[in-house]
Amino acid sequence: MSFSHLGLSEKVLAAVAATGYKTPTPIQEQAIPHVLARRDVLGIAQTGTGKTAAFVLPMLTMLETGRARARMPRTLILEPTRELAAQVEESFIKYGANHNKLNVALIIGGVSFDDQDAKLMRGVDVLIATPGRLLDHNERGRLLLSGVELLVIDEADRMLDMGFIPDIERICKLVPFTRQTLFFTATMPPEIRRITEQFLSNPVRVEVSRPATTVATTTQFLARSGRDGAEKRDTLRRLIRSAEGMKNAIIFCNRKRDVATLHRSLLRHGFSVQALHGDMDQSARTAALEQFRKNEVTLLVASDVAARGLDIPDVSHIYNFDVPIHPDDYVHRIGRTGRAGRAGTAITIVAGSNDAKAVAAIEKLIGQTIPFMDKIAGTSAEPQIEPRHEPRHEPRQAARPPHRGRHEHQRRPQQPERRPPPQQQPAPVARIEDARPRRAPQPVRKPMDDGDASHLPAFLLRPVTLKA
Ligand code: AMP
Repeated sequence: MSFSHLGLSEKVLAAVAATGYKTPTPIQEQAIPHVLARRDVLGIAQTGTGKTAAFVLPMLTMLETGRARARMPRTLILEPTRELAAQVEESFIKYGANHNKLNVALIIGGVSFDDQDAKLMRGVDVLIATPGRLLDHNERGRLLLSGVELLVIDEADRMLDMGFIPDIERICKLVPFTRQTLFFTATMPPEIRRITEQFLSNPVRVEVSRPATTVATTTQFLARSGRDGAEKRDTLRRLIRSAEGMKNAIIFCNRKRDVATLHRSLLRHGFSVQALHGDMDQSARTAALEQFRKNEVTLLVASDVAARGLDIPDVSHIYNFDVPIHPDDYVHRIGRTGRAGRAGTAITIVAGSNDAKAVAAIEKLIGQTIPFMDKIAGTSAEPQIEPRHEPRHEPRQAARPPHRGRHEHQRRPQQPERRPPPQQQPAPVARIEDARPRRAPQPVRKPMDDGDASHLPAFLLRPVTLKA
């Protein structure tokens, strides 16, 4: 199947050809003809499946006729985070390269109301918004939703996690009853099912898992640590310094304030690091993400909400500074690596019995045991923690350049501290679709099925026995 069979316009097909995409992904193939036929669509798909183009491409085709009126957007896309909204805007710029007259506006928190208002005034074909800011504009009387012909609700289960469902319900009641609705969610918890029943009209259901080509092997480890914050930071530094094949890494914390603390600490220790969490202002979030994407910084310390759904194609390592409270978040976090056929490593720091319980829940969900690094190495059960390097009185973070510092080079060991013996090796994981409880054991995946892994040490390439 090629793009030309989906009913897309010539302009859109030319833009798709210019991006180099040859064939539609399953969600694109299944959803686009229905969108063009003006049907409501319920897409069960997550990021990485090409779902953004599944709605952007037909929207561009449909918007070629008609024009926008002041303060009355023709289409509305709701996204849970500012970053996702910005990513969708980028897709319109990329695929809409031949649509000179198309007006796209972004209505997100953290940026000036006035600039957004001026854009709305000019007339908007595509409005991409986070729910809170959209309602603010509406309540000020600066935005009318009565002209919306098509509504996209993206990452709906994430909206649920973030408490946006009441806002979504309000917005659905503000747009015309006759609009077309495209609804995307990775999972279908009862609350989401209820919303789909209430706001979708006889939808076509399209369900896809991640295509095999975008899934590479992610090897997983646990690393023991003391509970204290400083001990955990010490453990993390040790892990980073001893990492093999490290290109870049995302480090996840459960709380925003811990993101900030860890970011400061890593900067003080000379690491090249940025932070991403919901309390940062929009320009700082965008700048952090851009720096990480362009490899200008090596590490990104992030909270789940800020990092969810972001398309960062090539991350070599994931560190869970905190074991995620919800097992699902573990799968989403480690899904940030091993993307687009590349190999990745995910290491979770385990500090204390609560963490051990949370790990047990994760192992149950993913249906396999995650090995401890020290067990693999056959060393003692306690982590070998370097002498504490937490400086007592550190210079302010701005005083340090955001790149790896002198001390880090000096301390960085050339070899990992521990190597697994030949008979054991870490468990390969994990596609989101593999992370659901299974009835039967999964076939063992050879770690090197996908992508080039010539940089990986031999122990990562050996087969593994999975728990039944
Ligand atoms: P998404 O699931 O929308 O976040 O898309 C994931 C990635 O797949 C993005 O980097 C897209 O640019 C890319 N992509 C989307 N459609 C295709 C396609 N048909 N062929 C190859 N890559 C694609």
